[in-house]
Amino acid sequence: ELEVAIKVVVVGNGAVGKSSLIQRYCRGEFTSEYKKTIGVDFLERELHVREEECRLMVWDTAGQEEFDAITKAYYRGAHVCIIVFSTVDRESFLAIERWKKKVDAEVGGVVTCVVQNKIDLIDEACMTPEEVGRVVKELKLKLFRTSVKENFNVEAVFDYLATRYLEK
Ligand code: GDP
Ligand code: MG
Repeated sequence: ELEVAIKVVVVGNGAVGKSSLIQRYCRGEFTSEYKKTIGVDFLERELHVREEECRLMVWDTAGQEEFDAITKAYYRGAHVCIIVFSTVDRESFLAIERWKKKVDAEVGGVVTCVVQNKIDLIDEACMTPEEVGRVVKELKLKLFRTSVKENFNVEAVFDYLATRYLEK
């Protein structure tokens, strides 16, 4: 049986939880220590969707995101994209549209969604649910609220993206 290979790119400001999301999904691990991502290209996980075996290759950014300097090689051949922001980082929320434009400029037609991570810290939120709703509606992107820390709603993000990709 042929396996579908899906390249997933994960973008967003630094420290929003991108590497944590990838580690959680692909390895079932979480660490509260903040380590700048270095050297890793991607992690993999098998997923069964609509009677198809998918191999998700989930790419990490190697910590280049602060300078908006994620290289073309990172985006090349991407099929789906996750834009992550943090519930406790307003700058990361305000950057969603910039990331969307960047992705669109580098690679056309990728299935994209937005992840509001660190939802466990909702009591300290730096944006209202209405503001978030407005932005994702404007950009026509589906929103997932996750806590990578609490392992809440992480699987749903990847299930959605793989399903949408296979529908195309
Ligand atoms: P990246 O720079 O976007 O790759 O962010 P990291 O994955 O390195 O995470 C930055 C910090 O946020 C780390 O200390 C993580 O442990 C923490 N973190 C990640 N996800 C969550 C979450 O859902 N809730 C909380 N409270 N902390 C998180
Ligand atoms: Mg990282």
